[in-house]
Amino acid sequence: MAVTRTFSIIKPDATRRNLTGAVTSMLENAGLRVVASKRIHMTREQAEGFYAVHKERPFYGELCDFMTSGPVVVQVLEGEDAVKRNRDVMGATNPADAAEGTIRKSFAESIEANSVHGSDSDENAAIEIAFFFKPEEIVG
Ligand code: ADP
Ligand code: MG
Repeated sequence: MAVTRTFSIIKPDATRRNLTGAVTSMLENAGLRVVASKRIHMTREQAEGFYAVHKERPFYGELCDFMTSGPVVVQVLEGEDAVKRNRDVMGATNPADAAEGTIRKSFAESIEANSVHGSDSDENAAIEIAFFFKPEEIVG
């Protein structure tokens, strides 16, 4: 299987509870390598742009409020079949549906404050990585 990249966000509910290391450790234990990482406080404009695909969904405004409510850690992760590998360790969107041993089962507070974001396809991973990182900031 090919080594690929995906984009991850450790969300404000997780940074607020000092879980950056715990989440990153679960990503690493799942076979993913952090090849870029920075802690930022997203602007409203960044959050709205990043989640533009969800603009028509009823939770869009609240999601943008949440994503700008505190710091986040944006990361590029590398590994075999990175998009799927990350989605598997993240668990289901709603923590009530997430499997044991996943990040969201372990840490998520709610369907909204669910601790992590992960790209859903290789194509979106490339778009999301480019949204937050310059090529020279990624060191594999
Ligand atoms: P995922 O993050 O698992 O790919 P989606 O892309 O469907 O899930 O949704 C993006 C984010 O929007 C979720 O991670 C979560 O923070 C939020 N969200 C999704 N569904 C809901 C909902 N029904 N109510 C509130 N927030 C939601
Ligand atoms: Mg998604």
